[in-house]
Amino acid sequence: MAAITEAAIRELAARRGRSAPITSCYLDVDGRRLVRKQDLEREVEQALRTLRAKAGGDPSVEKDAERIDRYIRTELDRSRVRGVAIFACSADDLWEVVELPVRVRTRVTVNQAPAVGQLEALLQDHEPMGVLLVDRQRIRMFVFELGELVERFEHVEELPRELDVRGLRDRGGEQHAQLLEAHTQQHLRKAAQTAFDVWSQQRFEHLAIGTPDDLVAQLEASLHPYLRERLCGRLPVPVTAPHDEVLAAAQEMEAEVERRREAEVVDRLRAEVASGRRGVAGLADTLEALGDRRIDMLVVSDGYSAPGWRCEPCGRLAAIGRRCAHCGQEMVEVEDVVEDAIEEALAQSSKVEICVGNADLDVLGRIGALLRY
Ligand SMILES: [Zn+2]
Repeated sequence: MAAITEAAIRELAARRGRSAPITSCYLDVDGRRLVRKQDLEREVEQALRTLRAKAGGDPSVEKDAERIDRYIRTELDRSRVRGVAIFACSADDLWEVVELPVRVRTRVTVNQAPAVGQLEALLQDHEPMGVLLVDRQRIRMFVFELGELVERFEHVEELPRELDVRGLRDRGGEQHAQLLEAHTQQHLRKAAQTAFDVWSQQRFEHLAIGTPDDLVAQLEASLHPYLRERLCGRLPVPVTAPHDEVLAAAQEMEAEVERRREAEVVDRLRAEVASGRRGVAGLADTLEALGDRRIDMLVVSDGYSAPGWRCEPCGRLAAIGRRCAHCGQEMVEVEDVVEDAIEEALAQSSKVEICVGNADLDVLGRIGALLRY
């Protein structure tokens, strides 16, 4: 499965259908939801019906639909794939399949540009996360990306013989405590070094740790400063937890980190809008700022869509038609101007933040932007 990168998404976003429109097709093929083959077939049939209705008889889109159907029937391997994004334009020889280990929302669009918004949001929501599990004997390090394990290191250390001597341990006492402390410190340093080595090989944005209460402070202090600033919290799993449990906890942490980040962005947006400086909110003003190429970061509520207008001659998007306020030409209606705005922002190299369940953003009109000037 080829990893999808930010650069690849931007390259895709810049493509335009020359001789025919581009088909974008997101399919939720998750075997946990669509257990039987018939369930999947029904899902796909419905999506393709929608696609054909939108095609309006365009022969290139018709071919895209056939090819998607064939791909699902003969090539898709659902043991590894839960979501698929397909971008096609048979007339221009475009066929790009992105297979994902996570779910997507089933959705088809036919437009002059590929609908990459959902892919972008997905990539943001799944920044690579490192997990370091440590007790006095074990070091386990994982890196997860898009819900999958990409790196793993496990080490179990023998306790030094002095600490194992039954007599000494039974006697306890100061000497034993000192030995144990020295051993623990060395072990935690090794754990911190391991985390750094793994990070050097396989970068991750966030680091979650799982360790007994009495080791937390020491472990955190041992971490390289680069890693300390990536700390995002503690995982409530035992150090010996099975792999699935670690992954589930990491995914929960990932979602929490993402919601925190989104909340910060929306706070900033709200402050900028309130002071009337570098922020706009609401569909009309945001589209206006986008047309002026002033957007540093587009902020959109997940699932928000709205009909709108596109001016073909000058390329601007608008909430209200039908005459373009800038060039006076007649605009064309678009089914989802929000999706178009996301693609346009990406094509302008602006950042795009898709926020999930953020009530403050909904109050602002479900869309807004931080401005460059
Ligand atoms: Zn215009």
